[in-house]
Amino acid sequence: MFRYTTTACRKCNLQEDTFHGITIDAQGLCQFCAKQAPPPQRDWPRLKTLFEDTLAGVRGRLPRLPHEGLVMLSGGKDSAYMAHLLKDVYGMNLLGFIIDINYEYPETFDNAATIARRLEIPYVVYRQDPALMRRYYRYLFCEPGIHQQDCGQVCTFCGRFLIRTATEFARAMGIPLVFSGHNPDQILLMGQAVELEPAQREFMEFTMAVVAEDTATARAGWQAAHGPCPERLFPESLAPAGVQLVFPYQHFPYLPETMMQVVRERLDWTPIKRFSKTYIASGCRLVKLWSYLARCGNTNSYVDFEFSNQVRNGTLALETVRAFYDQADTGCEELAEIARDLGMVDEMRRMLRDRVGEDDELYRLLAS
Ligand SMILES: [Zn+2]
Repeated sequence: MFRYTTTACRKCNLQEDTFHGITIDAQGLCQFCAKQAPPPQRDWPRLKTLFEDTLAGVRGRLPRLPHEGLVMLSGGKDSAYMAHLLKDVYGMNLLGFIIDINYEYPETFDNAATIARRLEIPYVVYRQDPALMRRYYRYLFCEPGIHQQDCGQVCTFCGRFLIRTATEFARAMGIPLVFSGHNPDQILLMGQAVELEPAQREFMEFTMAVVAEDTATARAGWQAAHGPCPERLFPESLAPAGVQLVFPYQHFPYLPETMMQVVRERLDWTPIKRFSKTYIASGCRLVKLWSYLARCGNTNSYVDFEFSNQVRNGTLALETVRAFYDQADTGCEELAEIARDLGMVDEMRRMLRDRVGEDDELYRLLAS
């Protein structure tokens, strides 16, 4: 939500970015828009059948299981629509699963609970140990061995941690399926995409090799600093044996605007406008901090890439993305508060001084 340059693609809004090799040409276009590559083709009927076969394999058991699937709820539109699809369209027996990492906005829980109640899905709120979470996120932000210029390591590792938390919980409860509402870009970055064109497959395999290496580094660093490392913090695989992870948004076209309309009407869902008055996506409080650090590193964050991808795919309007950034909350007080809570004021100040100098607003806030 933070912009560091006005040199951006006039079609998809991606910023010029040396770190990621994004250039804007004389026509004002990034290399993706200049190439005008057609969006990847998908065999939707085949993908839908794959999805339905997975569901049928579990629903065919008699007597039916009380919970055939654990559905991860974040309060955002994607997980809301996913829960609606699974319950209203496919009639699955579900258990809602809401994870509390200690850094969510309260609306996350309000929204998720409303969704579950509307759909008559029982749910649990799984509260992670706050002291462990403080150590974990401080480590993700500050550990030099895993740090990236765009600070993407925080979401990469945390995303895997949340899924592994859900799949381990499902295994303990005897629930065979776990559903996660990640969007297609996120599914690719998790290495879970099932149908891809060769170039995308190569990208995904390369990304997964990097993640595997970083996971080993992260685990070793954690063990040296904090002792034994719970598997779920830096898991090698996302699900333990006996649990199948399902990402519905790779089986159907991802249409955020339509999905939003459906969940508003069916579930009384309301957008969480903590990032911007124009809603596109929601997330936890930590998102603001790492996206600020990405800005200070003069790089697009992975969320900036996601929005641009969606504009290029035609699923999100350019005006909506522009409005999102124009109306974004760019205040630093909340960021300073998080840095203090995580006990990393000195580390943040060092990082900010190296990246942008002592004039930085957050740097000054952290000094006072
Ligand atoms: Zn572009």
